[in-house]
Amino acid sequence: MKFSSKCVRPIKATGECQTTNTPIYASTVSRFIDSGQQYYPRYFNTINQETISTKIASLESAEKGIVFSSGMAAISTTLMALLRPGDHLIVLKEMYGGTIAFVEEKLKLIGINVSYVDTATEFIKDEINEKTTMIMVESPTNPFLSIVDLRALAAVAKAKNIITVIDNTFASPVNQRPIELGIDISIHSGTKFLSGHSDLCCGAVVGQEKYISIIQHHAHHFGGCLNPLDCYLLDRSLKTLDIRVKQQNLNAKKLVGFLNSHEIVGRVYYPGLPEHQRSHIVETQMDAPGSVLSLKFKNNSISITQFLNSLNLVTPGISLGGIETTVCSPYLTSHHKMPEQKRKELGITRDLLRFSIGIEAWDDIANDIFKAIEIARV
Ligand SMILES: *Cc1c(COP(=O)(O)O)cnc(C)c1O
Repeated sequence: MKFSSKCVRPIKATGECQTTNTPIYASTVSRFIDSGQQYYPRYFNTINQETISTKIASLESAEKGIVFSSGMAAISTTLMALLRPGDHLIVLKEMYGGTIAFVEEKLKLIGINVSYVDTATEFIKDEINEKTTMIMVESPTNPFLSIVDLRALAAVAKAKNIITVIDNTFASPVNQRPIELGIDISIHSGTKFLSGHSDLCCGAVVGQEKYISIIQHHAHHFGGCLNPLDCYLLDRSLKTLDIRVKQQNLNAKKLVGFLNSHEIVGRVYYPGLPEHQRSHIVETQMDAPGSVLSLKFKNNSISITQFLNSLNLVTPGISLGGIETTVCSPYLTSHHKMPEQKRKELGITRDLLRFSIGIEAWDDIANDIFKAIEIARV
């Protein structure tokens, strides 16, 4: 079945479900006598949870999936489930802030050793030692949309029996299916593209059954389960995932050209640009470069606060992946608490903005941005 059909297809979790939509089973109690099994939300095995996790797993050609109440519940549960004290974990320098905070404030505390690396395969390979049990990456990364060569990473890790994990949030399953490239586990903040309407907080993990069952067992302890109504909303969102993301891709592609040629834009970061550091790899592992892009204005050419305040259609907001275009200043939001020196090292400057392009008419988005640029020019 093609991807768009998998998005729409009703999943029949049980024989009794003959409707196009799975009924919302708002129940925490089920008779155990007839089925012999205990269904309970915190066991992550209710009909609504399994319907949606089955669909997400099928979208990424994975054996099995599990859904959570947030992306961070998915990430923290996966890492806690698969790592032991004494293990060595390799992560990227440029990762989602919440993941870095979890690694720093929790994993290090329980005796997991961590190395931070650049996205190049050679650098990742160089960090591997005999205790390395997991490599976790993002691709594209936030906020500079760097790319990891996922096939090369999978090959390096497989040769040494190391588990590979990707946070695939920025790409979405429409643009990138890491399991097909040899990565073991793919995680999503479903709050972004999967739900797509900026109204739902959820997460998902997909991969081989052997990994998902360990994660599910640990999930019982941490309890970050998704409620039946949100499972339903997520399934409703997934039906339009393909069509939404493709339109977002198209809009982003059109906008990038215009932004890139604007006289006061210094640099655009987007995996679809020929000058992107790994554009040749983007073509081999992504169906499209996505709809998240960052840019830096030329030195002191614009007042960022005035720019943000002058937008009408585009919403200044820290999340992404929704059908509405949003813009965020990493300097003022996600990396606000980071020491100035560290921000400088990472290139998180005041004139950096990250856009998540929505499904509005692309020329309306462009006009809104260009009008705000004119007002905010100094
Ligand atoms: C938002 C986000 C997360 C965290 O997801 P929540 O649903 O907010 O918990 C993790 N990774 C990436 C790349 C994200 O953008």
